[in-house]
Amino acid sequence: MVKVALPDGSTLSVADGITAMQLAEQIGRGLAKAAVAAKINGQLRDLSVSIDSDTTVQIVTPKDEDGLEVMRHSCAHIMAEAICSIWPAAKLVYGPVVTDGFYYDIDLDEPIRPADFQRIEQKMQEIIDSDRPFIRKEMSKAEALEKLAGDKYKLDNINRADSDIISFYSHGDGFEDLCRGPHLPGTGKIGGFKVMSVAGAYWHGDPTQKMLQRVYGTAWPTKKELDDYLHRLEEAKKRDHRVLGKQLDLFSFNEAGPGFAFIHAKGTVIWNQVVNFLRDKNIKYGYNEIRTPIILNEELWHKSGHWDNYKENMYFSEIDGVGYAVKPMNCPGGCLVYKTRQHSYREFPMRVAEFGMVHRHEASGVMHGLFRVRQFTQDDAHIYCTPNQIESEIIGVIDLIFEVYRAFGFEDFLIELSTMPIKHIGSDEIWEVATNALKDALAHKNIEYKINAGDGAFYGPKIDFHIKDCLQRSWQLGTIQLDFSMPQRFELVYTDVDNTDKHPVMIHRAVLGSFERFIGILIEHYAGNLPLWLSPEQVRILSISEKTNDYAKIVQDKLNDASLRCSCDLSDEKVNAKIAKAHSEKLPFMLVVGPKEAQSDTVNVRIQGVKETKTVDVDEFLRIAKQKIADKEIELAF
Ligand SMILES: [Zn+2]
Ligand SMILES: [Zn+2]
Repeated sequence: MVKVALPDGSTLSVADGITAMQLAEQIGRGLAKAAVAAKINGQLRDLSVSIDSDTTVQIVTPKDEDGLEVMRHSCAHIMAEAICSIWPAAKLVYGPVVTDGFYYDIDLDEPIRPADFQRIEQKMQEIIDSDRPFIRKEMSKAEALEKLAGDKYKLDNINRADSDIISFYSHGDGFEDLCRGPHLPGTGKIGGFKVMSVAGAYWHGDPTQKMLQRVYGTAWPTKKELDDYLHRLEEAKKRDHRVLGKQLDLFSFNEAGPGFAFIHAKGTVIWNQVVNFLRDKNIKYGYNEIRTPIILNEELWHKSGHWDNYKENMYFSEIDGVGYAVKPMNCPGGCLVYKTRQHSYREFPMRVAEFGMVHRHEASGVMHGLFRVRQFTQDDAHIYCTPNQIESEIIGVIDLIFEVYRAFGFEDFLIELSTMPIKHIGSDEIWEVATNALKDALAHKNIEYKINAGDGAFYGPKIDFHIKDCLQRSWQLGTIQLDFSMPQRFELVYTDVDNTDKHPVMIHRAVLGSFERFIGILIEHYAGNLPLWLSPEQVRILSISEKTNDYAKIVQDKLNDASLRCSCDLSDEKVNAKIAKAHSEKLPFMLVVGPKEAQSDTVNVRIQGVKETKTVDVDEFLRIAKQKIADKEIELAF
């Protein structure tokens, strides 16, 4: 008998040599049915693996991220078989999982076209319906090299493998593929799948190599989850901030500066609302705001380490024969401000914010509207403190971050803590103090988080904050990063209680990350129907005829006086056309005014997304709108 420790803390005694699948059956039939793989002693393995010593086992199902990946990767094998059965000349290169799916790189002279997807899917469905088992076969590296002699792609894969044992997986019908695994127990475990797209990709991403065909697919545990996913993609297309940005006249891009956003008047209103809100929060949480130059001497970037580690992404210039660089980060400038005077422990924690514009040269292929730009403004801040102030400072930043996200209507968060990587600076002791401070702060706030072991920056551990939008897409926004390096590089010091000079702990933090990107996320999350407080134009008054234009202007003056962003549509259009236009421009409130309203000092209110209209006094409407703006209320109905 061997002892198996399960994730719930219990221990099972089971027969020596039992397979992970048999163990799952012992635990429960439902679990065995859902099982796709097992984590044995922390390693993801096939369910056919036998357990022959005391160990920990977690039965993995598609509910686990790992399980979903096993399923998707197995589906890549199934797609590969389908493609090879249709095009016997196809050579398989590499088939990993990606977000929401997988791809397989194929070398085939004949192009695979979207029109071919259906027959690929048909063949895949046959393979899935026949529920063939995935079978693992192992051999030595030498044997594998001999077996695949002549297949340059697979030979390359074997030579890259770090193990001397090479494994192959077959799933019946003579189809076999070199792979590390693990895989599903059988092809029938795939509930819903779809071939999504095809694109060109160079072997190893190297433009001197042959262009391969990268076929993308997706796979889900059930047909329903597949349908939901496809629906979310459709929705995302409709909400594309690049399309809405143009339609609503919010921003544009120009060849004159690829990757540099031009924020138009309406976009600037949104921008200012977001910035002003963050500025208010900085005051509430005790930050002072500074501004530092965009272009700084090359020497500074040598000192900061950016020259050695980040040069390819920076912009350079020469002024009076001296080299300068455009800042990719705000921290070095902030350090220079810190150094302008002597500091004492008494003024710590010292919180310094900067809405800093940075430039980072991204490859042209990865740019994507406001989501991926080359120039953006960070809601940056640096906190200088002593080691024993770390925990309370982190708690303060966490409070600030959640307060901000909730105000924008985001309630679903994912938090990750990244710990000490192998290559790092700073003593193990300071890493432990810092990492524990981060953990304690998260525990103090009762926050669940995922640990990314060894994934911290070389200069310190960090916490990353992700939000989920209404389409369940995850966006990393905020970050809290401890830094033991920069205070040393810049010789930042403070005088401690014992009158000696010490390096402060430096905490970098951002709440939204980049204003540009966050505004893009807001546009997509709200499909352009921004909350009232963020709307570029909050109210439009639609006059029924020329006779009521004067009254419309009186109402507008009243609302403008109260700082509402409001205009009048006094055009010759019929009122229904005016309403349709305001609707398409995503106006939150439309006030229709005719002779009846003019006589009684009222307005007929149409609310975006609400069927019924309401007639209220102008003053009453003003009171309600102002209250909603002050409360940052997302619901418009009243
Ligand atoms: Zn595989
Ligand atoms: Zn920083």
